[in-house]
Amino acid sequence: MKLTPYFLLGLSWLAVASCGNDWLDLEPSTAVETEKSIKQLSDIEFSLNGIYSTMQDPYAYSGRLVYYADVTGDDMQAVSSTKRTGGYYDFRFSRDTGPSTHWNLLYAMIQGCNLILKDIDAINISDDEAAYRDDLKGEALAIRGLALFDLTRIFGYPYLKDQGASLGVPIVTEFSTIESRPSRHTVAQCYEAIIADLEQSTTLLSSKFKKGKINRWAAMTLLSRVYLYKGDDTKALQCAEEAIQGAKKAKYALWSNEEYPTAWGNDSSSSKPGEVLFEIVNLTTDSPGKESMGYLNSYNGYDDMCITVSFYHLLKEDPADVRLKLLSFDKTYYAYVNKYQPQEGENITDANIPLIRLSEAYLNAAEAAVKLGDKATAAAYLTPIVERANPARTVEESTLTLDDVLTERRKELVGEGHRMYDVMRNGGTVKRVQLSDKAISKTKHDTKYMEYDWNFYQIVLPIPKGEMNANPNMVQNPGY
Ligand code: CA
Repeated sequence: MKLTPYFLLGLSWLAVASCGNDWLDLEPSTAVETEKSIKQLSDIEFSLNGIYSTMQDPYAYSGRLVYYADVTGDDMQAVSSTKRTGGYYDFRFSRDTGPSTHWNLLYAMIQGCNLILKDIDAINISDDEAAYRDDLKGEALAIRGLALFDLTRIFGYPYLKDQGASLGVPIVTEFSTIESRPSRHTVAQCYEAIIADLEQSTTLLSSKFKKGKINRWAAMTLLSRVYLYKGDDTKALQCAEEAIQGAKKAKYALWSNEEYPTAWGNDSSSSKPGEVLFEIVNLTTDSPGKESMGYLNSYNGYDDMCITVSFYHLLKEDPADVRLKLLSFDKTYYAYVNKYQPQEGENITDANIPLIRLSEAYLNAAEAAVKLGDKATAAAYLTPIVERANPARTVEESTLTLDDVLTERRKELVGEGHRMYDVMRNGGTVKRVQLSDKAISKTKHDTKYMEYDWNFYQIVLPIPKGEMNANPNMVQNPGY
């Protein structure tokens, strides 16, 4: 591959931004270099590849950004509090020890997107390049929306706690310089910006399968999730329905009961896209290494995080539930979620990371519909998930409750980075219970944080110390 100066530029700021502890830690030379604008669509694609590469980091979407919300919930836990995931599981973070990577990596992604969005409309293109240009612009908008959404739910309290009145994070839409000292916007303002980016992205993105790249149906499903978090159930349902219909036309389909236990290791393609709408593609030649979900979730790896006894009991209420087949047992000690399966010929470190699945679109639609009081629609969208898990099961429309939908959601999405957020955004309580089971006899809770709701100050992370020290406009989260 021939490296253009722009590609090198993209890599240099990413490298700088991801290891620093200052506001993006921009060097003066970086700021000067960025005065040069991007001239061609191929430069944009190179820059986007740099952003996807940042997303692939094990401290971003190949690991930490995903497992954070699982091990802070009640369905998964660190195998012990001394494990890598133990710090989050046991809420061992303070204003001085809070992790900086969530913040730095997500803002590095946003910075990359801003660089693209600053220049893309000024690029001279021929008529037949318009769809390609729109797709690239849609990717930058969708990734910026995703990154801001993650920042907002990591550092800001749930929207529905106070209708977004509390502090979220800075909304950064311009290319940052070393002089930038952004201040925090409210959660409501963050949601407005997230929704604006994602809405626009869905009008620009390609509707086709693109290996490892975000497309229209992934962005639309994410948007339905964002609307659920904001309590706009009408829009959530509308987006989820549109995503399901569009994804079907693009040949996506829910995995079948038979496929389910091993489909996670499939190498998707445009002829057989399966049900993963957006995934991080990891390869042996381009691997996130041992801090990855694949390695953390396996007893052949760091055996770092496992399911809780209470979740095991929940799942085995139906002994025929296919999702039980995804549990991999380490003797009779622990059970791991085997969703991070390597693709053919790869090591467990190289497993792809499914970030947005078609199953979620069905669950989003069902949740939105039941909240709107439309049980028939809710049942219609919940049924394919329930019947896939066990073809003998049915959804009883007349007695269907929100709790049923949320229970199905936790069974379906365990280990995919949803649980703590899902409880908190609905104003629920995480209840960790000390139980025992012979099948996973060494699985025990090892923390004093056994029950909490959105009034617990540590359900959001502290603003990183480096950011607080470098930026006089920054305000710390309450309690830290
Ligand atoms: Ca892979």
